[in-house]
Amino acid sequence: WLGLDGKTVIVTGGASGIGKHVVETLLAAGADVAVVDLNVETGDDLEGAYCVKCNVTDPDSVNEMMSAVKEKFGHVDALVNNAGINLPRLLVDVKGERPEYELDVKTLDKMFAVNVKGLFLCAQAAAREFVKQGHGVILNMSSESGKEGSQGQSAYSATKGACDSFTRSWAKELGKYNVRVVAVAPGIMEATGLRTPAYNEALAYTRGVKPEELSTDYSKVIPLGRDGKLDEVGNLCAFLVSDRASYITGTTINISGGKSRG
Ligand code: NAD
Repeated sequence: WLGLDGKTVIVTGGASGIGKHVVETLLAAGADVAVVDLNVETGDDLEGAYCVKCNVTDPDSVNEMMSAVKEKFGHVDALVNNAGINLPRLLVDVKGERPEYELDVKTLDKMFAVNVKGLFLCAQAAAREFVKQGHGVILNMSSESGKEGSQGQSAYSATKGACDSFTRSWAKELGKYNVRVVAVAPGIMEATGLRTPAYNEALAYTRGVKPEELSTDYSKVIPLGRDGKLDEVGNLCAFLVSDRASYITGTTINISGGKSRG
């Protein structure tokens, strides 16, 4: 039904978490998939997907990745721009107990390097192909915090605000070439690779709770009363990169069980 047979989709950050589930959904729907990640070796097979090792923050690495995918599949039809990192930090550590959890320039730069510069580099490399061939889809992985903000995650949220803004502008620039640009904003999801013990510890401090107290009573904050499943994001992404979503561009779609307002 999705018509993804014969389509090639690149998924950055596809070796873990949400990206991995997007990869599995696309494979099940018949697409050819390239997993682009720091944590794979080029030529590896990941459940039927072709892997390319790439650091999305490095322009040379991104260009080499695009050449490798074109050589393997001959063409590229969609990019799922999903690689991202999240390092929780407070603007000011008022309690003064954990100065390492106060936002500094190095940490800010790290997050913007992957979530904004990496997003841009991959989008540009893909858009060059899409414009030439007269079709293509760029799907940017945002977060509900891009619109809503998030306690202890201001820099991360700012990167996702940039992601939403890029999405709207790129859609305006590329629509005339039959290239769509959309974003997906997950809310509270089941655990992924991003939620390491270090992440949980930092987030808990920024929220004034213990790590084991982080999970909330979802029924109070999420209308559907539960966290989101990774394959639910996979399903949305597979739909959005398919021609079934042919009139959707320039927007960020919430997937948060009704929690996100914007
Ligand atoms: P994850 O840590 O499980 O996966 C991220 C993947 O990106 C990893 O495989 C990692 O190796 C790769 N990666 C990181 N830096 C890279 C780089 N420089 N070059 C290439 N690959 C790199 O994380 P996740 O939770 O699945 O997050 C995926 C995306 O979803 C991110 O953009 C994240 O911001 C977004 N998101 C996650 C949640 C959530 O609750 N997990 C919610 C909203 C949005």
